[in-house]
Amino acid sequence: MDSSKTEFSISGVKVAMGETREIYLKVSESYLSGAIQIPVTVIRGRQAGPTAFVTAAIHGDEINGADIVRRLIFDVDHEQLRGTLIAIPVVNIPGFLTQSRYLPYHRDLNRFFPGKRRGNNAERMAYKIFSEVVSKCDFGIDLHTAAEGRLNLPHIRGDMTNSQVRRLSRAFGATVLVDQKGLRGSLRREATESGVPTILFEAGETGRFSQRVSIAGLQGVLNVLAQSGMWESLAPPKPPFQVIVKDSDWLRAEKGGILDLSVKPGDLLYEGDRIGLVLNPFGRTVTQIRSATTGIVIGVTTAPLTIPGTGIVHVAKLKKTLARVEKSIRKTKARKRRAQTRKKSVKN
Ligand SMILES: [Zn+2]
Repeated sequence: MDSSKTEFSISGVKVAMGETREIYLKVSESYLSGAIQIPVTVIRGRQAGPTAFVTAAIHGDEINGADIVRRLIFDVDHEQLRGTLIAIPVVNIPGFLTQSRYLPYHRDLNRFFPGKRRGNNAERMAYKIFSEVVSKCDFGIDLHTAAEGRLNLPHIRGDMTNSQVRRLSRAFGATVLVDQKGLRGSLRREATESGVPTILFEAGETGRFSQRVSIAGLQGVLNVLAQSGMWESLAPPKPPFQVIVKDSDWLRAEKGGILDLSVKPGDLLYEGDRIGLVLNPFGRTVTQIRSATTGIVIGVTTAPLTIPGTGIVHVAKLKKTLARVEKSIRKTKARKRRAQTRKKSVKN
């Protein structure tokens, strides 16, 4: 679909080619009778090309994506862009205002797509977003962070059996691509199934901006736009490795106590490796937590305390691709060692 030649509008506001517009899309109303409206920036290039959406904070407390969208709007201009970019820094306005994941009535907006015109509050909101934004696009990128109390390695999630989703995911340039369709009602699944291939970027944690995450996210989105012919960019730096993983698992605590965690996102774990200790209030070790699987850490808890069943470390399982990751990590370590030696010799 190349909509560049045709008229383009959101919420009744027309955007011409070679124009950027800031539009408020009304999706609901507040208890004070005011409008709940989503800020939408539409950047329409002078030249024809695909239409893409980039959304953030569908979970209202996952705000790092808002910073990625801010940087994206700053970098991309309609003079250079081919096609149309719809950038939404905050989708879940009620959740953003209260710094909560949820909509009113504790509903998760990302379980109600494609929505219903006459449905419940979440379905109506989802319907507006789906019909006014998603359905007008050729592809999309949805930006998330880990849920509250967790920290994620920057990685991509999507239905890798869909060749378009796989192409977008590879282009983004993250090291780990998790092959998961997503839950029923999630934006990425429903958009993909309706013919708008959509990938999800997971990185960082709730309630904070990480510059490292923002830069990785911005670069990833620009990489996808470049690969889709929408944006001119220098050859993007290749990730040190790139693996598609099908299976991931949470390693959980068996005991209650104080957690002393010794791994971080991006670490490679082997079955049997110690990932941390659970201590009692006297500081004595209650138990050692060992990895039940081999893979790469894509998420960790940031909570200092455990009870039986607390998710501690999220591991993407590596099988055939293990050797490739090992080789890449060995190379990176050797490079760091050489750099440190150089630094020391300069000091001396
Ligand atoms: Zn999320």
